[in-house]
Amino acid sequence: MLKIAIIGAGVAGLSVASLLARAGHDVTIFEKNSKISEIGAGIQISPNGFCVLKEIGLSKSTIKNSISSNSILICDYQNGKKLLQFEQGSVLGNVNFRLMHRADLIDILYRSAVDKKVRFKFGQTADAKSLSCKYSFVIAADGVHSKTRALLNPGQSKTERSDYFAWRATIRNKFNHHDGVRLTVAPKKHVVSYPIRGGNQLNLVLIQEIENNDFFEWGIKERPEEIKGIFSEFGGDLREGLASIETVHKWGLSSHDVALNWAVNNIFLIGDALHPMLPFLAQGANSALEDSFILANLITRLDPSEAAHRYAEIRKPRLLRLMKQIKNNAWKFHLEHSFLRTCTHSGLRFLDTTFPQSASLPFRWLYNYDVTKLDI
Ligand SMILES: Cc1cc2nc3c(=O)[nH]c(=O)nc-3n(C[C@H](O)[C@H](O)[C@H](O)COP(=O)(O)OP(=O)(O)OC[C@H]3O[C@@H](n4cnc5c(N)ncnc54)[C@H](O)[C@@H]3O)c2cc1C
Repeated sequence: MLKIAIIGAGVAGLSVASLLARAGHDVTIFEKNSKISEIGAGIQISPNGFCVLKEIGLSKSTIKNSISSNSILICDYQNGKKLLQFEQGSVLGNVNFRLMHRADLIDILYRSAVDKKVRFKFGQTADAKSLSCKYSFVIAADGVHSKTRALLNPGQSKTERSDYFAWRATIRNKFNHHDGVRLTVAPKKHVVSYPIRGGNQLNLVLIQEIENNDFFEWGIKERPEEIKGIFSEFGGDLREGLASIETVHKWGLSSHDVALNWAVNNIFLIGDALHPMLPFLAQGANSALEDSFILANLITRLDPSEAAHRYAEIRKPRLLRLMKQIKNNAWKFHLEHSFLRTCTHSGLRFLDTTFPQSASLPFRWLYNYDVTKLDI
């Protein structure tokens, strides 16, 4: 039995804690907040993350509360008209795309950790270096602004501009929204919407591409009028949806490379601390779940240096490929040049009438990956 300290009680910290405690280790989580907290918003869990959730333990009520996403619908912003709609499951052969409330996801992970006797130290800002003398392993799941990432990677720059802002809001779902993800694209902006909580609420993620030199905070309350103004040119039912926003939070997104050093001695990085990513493929939490399964398995079997080597060997190629695909998505969503937009939209409409399912093929490698079946 190993004594393991985890810094941070987000998706990464809670999931790796649960998996390590299940393997019989003595696990303590240090969380700087005084309790588990989540800003009310949705999250997309794709099959590659869902298989880890199944390992951790999903209750029937969680499944009932989440929505099974049947397709992705891409629309133009002016009138909300369809450009392309494709099912994910039929081509991928895997239907476990779930649309959840973040609080429900965190609740499953927290309960699972508590059931497995993980100890929680709330209200404690932890420092990896000092914990590393007292614990066999320290896992830093301290998020996008990770101090441990900076400690392990002194040469790597901390925050790089991405020039993207994100806002999140949930509204009452009184729209004819399908049971899936809708992506509404505009020059330098896009909106992702999907139903959550049994379909009663609609989650909105609003992204704007604009120069940003100094705002990199996460989850700051914003005035709804602000965002109604920024997205005022959006038509269709989204216009009504935006008008009904009462509470909204803002994220200044930064762009980072995957950390150069994944582990030093017995300190390991995981989740956003290791690979913060722009949310253009909805993979941050899914990747954190994948990391958790692999790291929990390696720590249980190997000494720190072997575990570190194998961790990077398994995870790096996949994460680098993912980061590349995210960069490709970013510019495609926000096409500004009207000729390029017209051509691309004609192409999408043509695909919609011929072989729409082919649109999911480039994501096969990403979603059809079951980390729980890997030979680790
Ligand atoms: C707009 C937006 C939409 C997104 N949508 C999706 C999606 O649909 N699907 C998806 O998979 N991902 C999505 N993501 C990404 C996802 O939310 C993150 O990747 C994921 O939550 C990261 O989890 P984490 O545990 O690594 O970090 P966090 O959730 O940031 O957790 C870090 C924790 O560490 C604590 N902490 C920090 N420092 C210390 C310290 N020194 N001591 C103690 N505690 C500390 C913090 O308080 C926090 O609780 C989205 C992100 C954004 C911004």
